[in-house]
Amino acid sequence: MSLLISNIGSLVTNDPALGAGPLGLLADAAVVVDGDRVAWVGPSAAAPAADEHADAGGRALLPGFVDSHSHLVFAGDRTAEFSARMSGRAYGAGGIRTTVAATRAASDAELNANLTRYLEEMLRQGTTTVEVKSGYGLSTADEARSLRIAAGHTEETTYLGAHVVPPEYADDPAGYVELVTGEMLAACAPYARWVDVFCERGAFDGDQARAVLTAGAAAGLLPRVHANQLGPGPGVRLAVELGAASADHCTHLSDADVAALADGDTVATLLPGAEFSTRAPYPDARRLLDAGAAVALSTDCNPGSSFTSSMPFCVAVAVREMGMTPDEAVHAATAGGALALRRADVGRIAPGARADLQLLDAPSHVHLAYRPGVPLTAAVWQGGVRRV
Ligand SMILES: [Zn+2]
Repeated sequence: MSLLISNIGSLVTNDPALGAGPLGLLADAAVVVDGDRVAWVGPSAAAPAADEHADAGGRALLPGFVDSHSHLVFAGDRTAEFSARMSGRAYGAGGIRTTVAATRAASDAELNANLTRYLEEMLRQGTTTVEVKSGYGLSTADEARSLRIAAGHTEETTYLGAHVVPPEYADDPAGYVELVTGEMLAACAPYARWVDVFCERGAFDGDQARAVLTAGAAAGLLPRVHANQLGPGPGVRLAVELGAASADHCTHLSDADVAALADGDTVATLLPGAEFSTRAPYPDARRLLDAGAAVALSTDCNPGSSFTSSMPFCVAVAVREMGMTPDEAVHAATAGGALALRRADVGRIAPGARADLQLLDAPSHVHLAYRPGVPLTAAVWQGGVRRV
């Protein structure tokens, strides 16, 4: 079955060979989808026939958002902690343990229902690819089941046994790292594509993070790192050194960190929902972009430090608070996320790419930042199937 979408007022292809600028913008465009792939992109007037036809009504069509960082296998919420924080209490890494207790107590069905609900929430806001981490189980059995449940929904699953040291290992962090790099890793690796570590004061230091990432790599997992969120540290440089696909947060960066990101293949993934929700200073996207680093935007959706599933929200905040242009923010939320997941088939609309598309109730992608908080998603196709 093929589908022609014509009368697209503004098409973001993210392919400079197909249109203007880094976004590969085309006006008055059309797209043909064949099965789960994009088959043709060009001017509306030159569009070939297809089995079905949709009229975009002059509105904007973009690649579906690629949300490359989320923590969606959890139970419970942390409303009280958020309220306390907004009343002046500081955020630390330890609040994660509250969610760990609730997640361990939940059934598989509860965790799966929760995950399904948030993935559908994301889809309704234009997100078609989502990375999901474990990290609220922190025992071999609970981490493995978290990843097994996540793998039922996405290929982009990340083993984050090294999220924090659980209470039962409070006096023996080295013993916990041994578990994470040994028995727990062996149980989780079959369900995971990636390995991640929270390299931060109060979580894991540089040596522990290196041990976790190299053990994960030896088990066939690809590294990504929670780095430099709450303060300066070795996370970003470790990520670049180990060839991680992404260093996530990048809020507190030295000049050497920025230079390492600019020179290496590691994407700087910025998560403004976390700074918004913890009332913390935002990362400086402008500094990274001007240095030549690749930048992605993601929600970091989790019940503690960033309980938003909205990529449009992140785009708007990145433009308003982080020095990004609307074009840069939209690129980071689509092509940037794809790069952070080392995916060439998503984050762009070009022949051969997956037909993951979002139609906005707006004439331009710029409206994502220009009209913050407004539900602009008019339609979403995932693998060529209309989902919204
Ligand atoms: Zn995170």
